[in-house]
Amino acid sequence: MVATSMEQIASLCKRRGFIFQNADIYGGMQGVYDFGPLGIELKNNLKAAWWRAMVYERDDVEGLDAAILTNRKVLKYSGHEDTFSDPMVDCKKCKGRFRADQIDGKCPNCGSTDLTEPRPFNLMFKTHVGPVEDDDNIAYLRPETAQAIFTQFKNVVDATSRKLPFGIAQIGKSFRNEITPRNFIFRVREFEQAELEYFVYPGTDVEWHEKWKENRLQWWLDQGLKREHINVYTTPKDDLAHYAKACYDIQYQFPNGMEELEGIANRQDYDLGNHTKNKEEFNLSAHCHENKESTTKLCIQDENGKWIIPFVVEPSMGVGRGILAILTEAYTEEDLGDGNSRIVLKLKKHLAPIKVAIIPLKKNNEQIMNKCHELKQKLMKLGIGRVALENTGNIGKAYRRHDEVGTPLCLTVDFETIEQQPESVTIRDRDTMEQIRVNTADLPEYLRNYFL
Ligand code: ATP
Repeated sequence: MVATSMEQIASLCKRRGFIFQNADIYGGMQGVYDFGPLGIELKNNLKAAWWRAMVYERDDVEGLDAAILTNRKVLKYSGHEDTFSDPMVDCKKCKGRFRADQIDGKCPNCGSTDLTEPRPFNLMFKTHVGPVEDDDNIAYLRPETAQAIFTQFKNVVDATSRKLPFGIAQIGKSFRNEITPRNFIFRVREFEQAELEYFVYPGTDVEWHEKWKENRLQWWLDQGLKREHINVYTTPKDDLAHYAKACYDIQYQFPNGMEELEGIANRQDYDLGNHTKNKEEFNLSAHCHENKESTTKLCIQDENGKWIIPFVVEPSMGVGRGILAILTEAYTEEDLGDGNSRIVLKLKKHLAPIKVAIIPLKKNNEQIMNKCHELKQKLMKLGIGRVALENTGNIGKAYRRHDEVGTPLCLTVDFETIEQQPESVTIRDRDTMEQIRVNTADLPEYLRNYFL
């Protein structure tokens, strides 16, 4: 059974050190969370899985890591300054502020119907670069990672000699001053996105859009999400963002409902068209703004040597929403049949924060402890991920703890290990709870086969 409430997940995340409310000791900051000791491992593993699938396993994608502070002109010409806003209403009674489309004419805080007319609210965090706080020095924290990919398009093409079709991938922080952050880490104000901008010949965009939909769906299944908990939603034409020709949302059955996990948009030539110099030289499909400030033509040569502005297909996922979906799917409460139950996080092994826990049967036995330290040093070098020495509590508690954080294998050093030859340890499987004995000389091969 998967998690059915957000409380189950939030409580496990806090108890075991995955995710904490930011500034908890001061009452917290709404819509901002910190990843704890195990959360950072899970997040790194998920990002590594994405990078591997999107960059390393392909021959047509390059990476980028652009700055978060964004030049105002970038977000002016991308259209964000004018359009990146939600209509919102204020409650005149309790002074609460809400998204107009999320309330039914009634304040969700105090129930009053005395509300202002909806007004646009820009979601970007504004700051100033340098010592003077005037309009000439405005910059933004980026609201999406994509824009830097478009503005660096020409530099990447020149540096790598790429030809169409090819993509640029990026993972990084984005910031949106969401009016109603909620549902734990589902909707927050600071989050990470993993985005690919895949540049294609105009006319092949529809085909590539389909291919990316299938590719991304399969990737989510590979991360452990079940097909029956996923819905692929086709955005109706009337609801499309102004830049999009078509858009699929990969939705997941979160505890708060079937909601967007990743968007896959056909953005046509809108973005490169907006940021390019001399847009009139190109036969653009999207309706782009006049741009007299760009210094560069964001174009590439086709097979006949003609300069064109490519179309772009964009799979864009939220890393935090990915983690929430994966935790929801993996969370399992199991009745052990003997009056006891356990919580086990059935994470895919490549995502598990700790791969192997080394557990001493007796903490106060020096020989056993030395053997644990020795094994930890040796196994850590295998490159399978984090190998942790677990020396809190008794063996039963250690197993429960590692079930709850999804550690696939627990390796126990006992008296047989230090007294008998050939030297061996027990290995306990998280899901079946079965134990086998393995000679320590065979451990590297056993673990490599298991994890790599
Ligand atoms: P929503 O409709 O849920 O606000 P969106 O359509 O604005 O999302 P995009 O701009 O397409 O989202 O961003 C791509 C992905 O980034 C989303 O699919 C989601 O996973 C993630 N994302 C967007 N906004 C947030 C947020 N406030 N908190 C967490 N993740 C987010």
